[in-house]
Amino acid sequence: MNLKGKKIVVLGFGKSGRETAFFLAGKGARVVVNDKKSPEAFSESLEAFKLLENVTFVLGSQKADLIDKKVDLVIKSPGIHPRVPPIVEALRLGVPVLTEVEVAYHFNRAFIIGITGTNGKTTTTSLVSEILKKTTKKVYTAGNIGVPLLSVVESTEKNDILVAELSSFQLDNIKCFRPQISAILNITPDHLDYHQSFQAYVGAKAKILLNQRKDDFTVLNADDPLVASFKDRGEAQAIMFSREQFLDRGVFIKKGQIVSNDGSKETMIMPSVEVALPGAHNLENVLAAVAITSCVGVCKEKIAETLRTFKSVEHRLEEVRELSGVKFINDSKATNTGAALKALESYEKPLILIAGGMDRGSTFDELAVLINKKVSYLILLGEAKEKIAHACRERGFGNYIMVDSLQEAVAKASQEAKFGDTVLLSPACPSWDMFASFEERGNLFKSLVIALGGG
Ligand code: ADP
Repeated sequence: MNLKGKKIVVLGFGKSGRETAFFLAGKGARVVVNDKKSPEAFSESLEAFKLLENVTFVLGSQKADLIDKKVDLVIKSPGIHPRVPPIVEALRLGVPVLTEVEVAYHFNRAFIIGITGTNGKTTTTSLVSEILKKTTKKVYTAGNIGVPLLSVVESTEKNDILVAELSSFQLDNIKCFRPQISAILNITPDHLDYHQSFQAYVGAKAKILLNQRKDDFTVLNADDPLVASFKDRGEAQAIMFSREQFLDRGVFIKKGQIVSNDGSKETMIMPSVEVALPGAHNLENVLAAVAITSCVGVCKEKIAETLRTFKSVEHRLEEVRELSGVKFINDSKATNTGAALKALESYEKPLILIAGGMDRGSTFDELAVLINKKVSYLILLGEAKEKIAHACRERGFGNYIMVDSLQEAVAKASQEAKFGDTVLLSPACPSWDMFASFEERGNLFKSLVIALGGG
């Protein structure tokens, strides 16, 4: 990919956009950075670009006239909606629109493991990286996990491994990107505001298989019918994982043991009860991680050693503390109903649930059914609170209150909780109606819980 002298428009000036602009400038491209937020929002980032003459900025609007026939390429940040005027115009003029992942691919030298799915990407990516770090390989972890791929690819060497967490937004605009091992963990409805239809969302996820070849591998969830149906979709050899069935080739549970079958023999990895991560859904992430790392040739001892010690990733079923016999769990990253359902399944009654956030058009009927089974008291907040309350009432569950802030929610939860209860923040919604990010929401929850005092 020769970028020298090319005119490239970078849409979005967040973490990924910033890294992309730097990278492209370093390669001699003429870069125009655009973001609809005004310059004041970026004063610090702009400072860092002061000396780069080949980078200019158009901030405070997002108009079609950014694009003309002289533009060679548009690189969009993952969160930029695919129908904003500059993208519509680029497509009309036939200007390619890519994401950072595609550009990074052309400069990467490492073996790529690409992990996608609606939920569990960060947990599985972290777990795979931790296991691989026990080997002699140099491991890079990047992508949707918060480290732009472009910030690491130039350091990679042929024998290194790059573990890339990939969102549907990042995959939607790939062209040549090819992981040697891909993994699709699960697919449930999410990001429908962006992708417009579930079918389009599934299509974006499936693109991870697009350029894989016969000697590549794809690790797929046999228990998710949609994901399992991708088995013959691409060229790559499928390795399945399952919590529910024995497999001729793949990773599964047999007599309480995690077993890996390479097609000719079964290897016992370890008893599943010894896995440190909580919840059945995390066992799925574990099975996927075992399949991926076995595929790379990591020995079972190194895999088991990590699985026994890897407890959680921050904001994902993270135990904050126990106070007077009440456990407080931060699952702020549950930004969709699929994740919240898994969280509810991971605990037994009595459960006090704090849920609600930005209304992204999801339905909450399935969640309401499980709330009725598992939750003794429900505290609702955010834009979606009325909608969740309505779904709960329809399912005969009325023991909820609505509050206006997380402060109020935590205070109410601690008043209601009795010895043996679990208070779970698992919102089933994004945070953006009240917070800058799920991290901010989770951090506030943790500090409120710590501030409850009591030793
Ligand atoms: P992602 O990076 O895909 O958002 P995370 O590992 O950050 O996934 O987890 C996000 C949320 O989804 C958390 O609430 C977590 O408890 C839940 N979760 C994790 N793994 C799974 C899974 N395999 N299936 C469903 N939910 C999951």
